[in-house]
Amino acid sequence: MTAAASSGETLWSRCGGCATLLYRKRLRRNLDVCPECGLHARLAAPERVSQLVDPSSFQPLPDRAVEVDPIDFVDVLPYPHRLTAARIDTGLPEAVLCGAATIGGFRCGLAVMDFRFLGGSLGCAVGELITRTAEQALEAGLPLILVTASGGARMQEGALSLMQMATVSQAIAALREAGLLTVSVLTDPTYGGVAASFATNTDLVLAESGARMGFAGPRVIRQVTGRNLPEGFQTAEFLLRHGQVDMVVPRHALRARLATLLAAVGADRPAGRSGAPVPSRPADPAPDLARAPAPDAWETVRLARHPGRPTTLDYLESAFDGFTELHGDRLGGDCPAVVGGVARLDGRHLIVIGHQKGHTTAELAARNFGMATPAGHRKALRLMRLAARLGLPVVTLVDTPGADPGVDAEEHGQAAAIAENILTLSVLPTPVVTVVTGEGGSGGALALAVADRVLMLQHAVYSVISPEGCAAILWPGRTAAPQAARALRLTAPDLCRLGVVDEVVPEPVGSAADDPEATARAVRQAVLANLLPLLDVPTATLVQRRRRRFRRFGAARAGVRAGLR
Ligand SMILES: [Zn+2]
Repeated sequence: MTAAASSGETLWSRCGGCATLLYRKRLRRNLDVCPECGLHARLAAPERVSQLVDPSSFQPLPDRAVEVDPIDFVDVLPYPHRLTAARIDTGLPEAVLCGAATIGGFRCGLAVMDFRFLGGSLGCAVGELITRTAEQALEAGLPLILVTASGGARMQEGALSLMQMATVSQAIAALREAGLLTVSVLTDPTYGGVAASFATNTDLVLAESGARMGFAGPRVIRQVTGRNLPEGFQTAEFLLRHGQVDMVVPRHALRARLATLLAAVGADRPAGRSGAPVPSRPADPAPDLARAPAPDAWETVRLARHPGRPTTLDYLESAFDGFTELHGDRLGGDCPAVVGGVARLDGRHLIVIGHQKGHTTAELAARNFGMATPAGHRKALRLMRLAARLGLPVVTLVDTPGADPGVDAEEHGQAAAIAENILTLSVLPTPVVTVVTGEGGSGGALALAVADRVLMLQHAVYSVISPEGCAAILWPGRTAAPQAARALRLTAPDLCRLGVVDEVVPEPVGSAADDPEATARAVRQAVLANLLPLLDVPTATLVQRRRRRFRRFGAARAGVRAGLR
């Protein structure tokens, strides 16, 4: 599998992927990625470090690897002989290289595993060194980046190797508790005990192109199940599709991507983790849309569903900056109807989560028409919790006909997935602003909308059930949908009067579909105007106010009818 079997002195090496004979220097300049077939050859830890970090910024961990042979293990060779041979072969004292460095100017703790050293196996010394790196990062208030390459726990150290999975995980947990970002970069191969601990229990999991990761190796699975494995099993793309990793990153882009993520948490930035101060600017005096004469509700439903309306990805492109998408629920799926990740708004980092529809039939079908599966709700949940841990505000963009009503969704706990999001948002210790941009369909909408401020575009709708659904149940036929739409009070001005929505965001003449850019500007301005004041509110007060906001929708509000015409 390796592209070059020999050291740098050799002039030529043969690619393990396409067998092309390559000039060694050219291959090295290309970060050991074959220019012909794109094969990412395995890297030694020192090469990996020099590719990832800013020049001469790496400071190795001062500690030496401790000498261990805890169970006097002997197979055909005594374990110490194998260790000595590995040290001579690699020039490294152990299977991991640890220290601190800067990446894109941001300081972080860094541990890089080396597969050449006894298969990158996790023994007591490796566990100890990674744990110390994590502990030092904690002490210095730095994020931690782990680059994994391992066959699993080291057999020659018995159960003590197994314990390292817990030892390192504990150190990761301490960083998570402290709100310090942890990132793992999976490289080929990452298996067994490393996969089932610090390679996957970090805040973010990146897979380098060509990486394979799994708990059990393909050979074992084939033996146990007697079945052939699907094409591309356990590859980076497989992991992305099955919700296991946030993104797949080619080697050339790894350093820049890590720098972007470190920037989001403001590592080592003098101004502090919340980013540059943003001057508060007064919002433009918005027309009092809540008091404007209500347009026909059914006409509004049609505008809200118009395929030309901007989607969440459109807003991420136009109203926000520097969006980095994060994928997966870590449980088995990556729902295309929900997108989310880190973005900037006026220089400030935040987490944006939204339903994604599309403009064409093909796009809509690929996105399940914006109907989230349980995996979509759980991806959103993961990102909400990540935001809270890292102290980033959350903005959600709601545009869904409703949660996915399929058999699969029921089997995977759709109801509980929505319920968990509502619960989590009610107590999420970070500001949350929601904009209903199109359709706010029922529980699927509320799963992203238990917010401190709920805004709604002028021609969006937000309802307990679709007008068609309501008509089918309460009227003699579906043709009564327009009547049901009027009866449900689902327009922005009506919901403003009911207190369900705090502010109506004006749309351009016609509707959002007629001028997406102007709509994006309006959304950006409304989100900023509503988010900035929340950033100064102490967390406990913020959560208390949010709870009060949703407590007030009880029977005590009998008087609201007076406000409706
Ligand atoms: Zn090749």
